[in-house]
Amino acid sequence: MNYPEPIQRLVDELNKLPGVGPKTAQRLAFHLLNRPPDEARRLAGAITEARERVGHCSTCYNLTDQDPCRVCSDGRRDRSCLCVVEEAKDVAAVEKTREYRGLYHVLQGCISPMDGIGPDDLRIKELLDRLRAGEVREVILATNPDVEGEATALYIGRLLKPLGLKVTRLARGLPMGGDLEYADEVTLGKALEGRREI
Ligand SMILES: [Zn+2]
Repeated sequence: MNYPEPIQRLVDELNKLPGVGPKTAQRLAFHLLNRPPDEARRLAGAITEARERVGHCSTCYNLTDQDPCRVCSDGRRDRSCLCVVEEAKDVAAVEKTREYRGLYHVLQGCISPMDGIGPDDLRIKELLDRLRAGEVREVILATNPDVEGEATALYIGRLLKPLGLKVTRLARGLPMGGDLEYADEVTLGKALEGRREI
């Protein structure tokens, strides 16, 4: 079905968003066209403003509207601990726990040969430069618990060996409120492996 050009263009643009298929793109487009013009203007404005005002922190590579970012420039954070994550959204996830008071380093991805992403495509060199500055004592490798995340953690762990730092990996285990009999064997196996004294 061919829409008038402006509608088709809107549908095509929405369709490029992650998780938005042609049907959803069409539904969103018609939703926007049925709302007051002001609402669409606010959405367009929010997208433009976020894109223009948000960049990467030159220290930790998190997304930020100021450089250095709020975490890096917060004097109350523990500068001896660095949490290494894949994406900016992972920083938000760890921050939400309110358990962590150290700093971050965002790799901006993970090693993934399938997607042609190697170590040089990530912020690993920048991580080593930061660590060589000498303030950090512990590095937490908080990459995702999947094949790529594990490979990335292993790779970085090896590079960090000669620096003599404490290098830790997030514990893998069972979800809170979960039931042992419903846990898959990999998760249960990792939980056993990572057990600790109480
Ligand atoms: Zn920062």
